[in-house]
Amino acid sequence: MTIVDLIIKKKNNQKITEDEFDFFIKGVLDKSIKDYQISALLMTICFNGLDDNETYYLTKAMTINGEMLDYKGIEGPIVDKHSTGGVGDKVTLILVPILATCNIKVAKMSGRGLGYTGGTVDKIESIGVKPVLPPKTYLEILKKTNMFIIAQSEKIAPSDKILYSIRDTSGTINNNSLIAASIMSKKIATNTDRIYLDVKVGDGSFFSSLKEAKDFAKLCIFIGKKFNKKVVIHLTNMDKPLGRCLGNLIEVKESVNFLNGNFESQTLKDIIYEFATDIIVDNNICKTKEEAVKLIDDKIASKEAFNKFKEWAKQQNSTYDLDNINTNYKPKYSYELKAKEDGYVDFKSNKEFGLTLIEIKAGRKNKEESLDFLSGIYLNKVFNEFVKKDETLLTIYCSSPIKDDVIKRLENNIIYNKKQQKEDKNIIGVIE
Ligand code: URA
Repeated sequence: MTIVDLIIKKKNNQKITEDEFDFFIKGVLDKSIKDYQISALLMTICFNGLDDNETYYLTKAMTINGEMLDYKGIEGPIVDKHSTGGVGDKVTLILVPILATCNIKVAKMSGRGLGYTGGTVDKIESIGVKPVLPPKTYLEILKKTNMFIIAQSEKIAPSDKILYSIRDTSGTINNNSLIAASIMSKKIATNTDRIYLDVKVGDGSFFSSLKEAKDFAKLCIFIGKKFNKKVVIHLTNMDKPLGRCLGNLIEVKESVNFLNGNFESQTLKDIIYEFATDIIVDNNICKTKEEAVKLIDDKIASKEAFNKFKEWAKQQNSTYDLDNINTNYKPKYSYELKAKEDGYVDFKSNKEFGLTLIEIKAGRKNKEESLDFLSGIYLNKVFNEFVKKDETLLTIYCSSPIKDDVIKRLENNIIYNKKQQKEDKNIIGVIE
């Protein structure tokens, strides 16, 4: 068997077997298969697809060719949470410490930014958190703080680390099987009791229609069953940016403010409370969602949730002064985009925000590119808020001069409505 045989097989729309996927992943890991051959196979998969069993075989090969975490001696519940990705999606940074203060252990493996969607690993690196440590250390941190947030590494989900960065920069992200294998291989390797997936639907996500998102959700549930894992899926709206801050450090700032009870966006608050209350009830910490809301309110008001975030960040080697993140966040360049007219704010495209963030180096164009952690966008006005002519609509931040075409792109993305628009539901549905 050679990698060229596999590429030709998929090019001719034939099925790839379990052994062949194992051969592929082993070759990715020992580097006998080259990046250009990997991208060729990924591209044929994008064109001709994988069926459910092939997707399971790929996921399995990605999982078993790496270590799996083992929580022997650590009492549960231990859960994992993952989002398929969106614009301004900082849910993990807020939800995980909240759950951790409610006696739910969260063992979370995240990814970097992918395409026009941001990634938790980039965000935590912006405050100096180390996402890769020896696996034994993850377990110690979980015991001490009830949480960890880590990345794929040479040991755990190592092939996803390689495939992820090649997909990001070879036009091979948007395929249900590749996304499912990437997410589920990480989740199976992290090996928690329950897996909560946030499948984002809409213009700033990988699933533009509800049907696509539901098909994807069913695929993840199918893979979960094969590994005897309970998977709960929330389908959530990603047609507008989530929250006011888009970027890396700026999103940590919004998360820290949230954990301190300073809610900058009602939509973000609603989503976090929905998720957190569902997970708290599902894990028998509270009997009802109402009880869970009170518990979360308490954890935020008492600063327990923020202190948990600080304690965890320190355990993963961050020395960032999180107490003073608002004053410390001082990018060298900023530009305030003013409203051209009065109106209720709307955006033509959410994806356009994600693409503009790549232009200001909050996301990558190629896998070697380093990020400007300070660059980002602050939405002074979010969807359906009223803006007056000449008022600031949004602020762009960057460590290098802000180019005119970035400003133009953002300017062209604004709509001024005469009336407020109907708001879609944040949580579209839950599938188990
Ligand atoms: N998140 C992942 O971990 N992988 C994907 O492919 C998409 C989102």
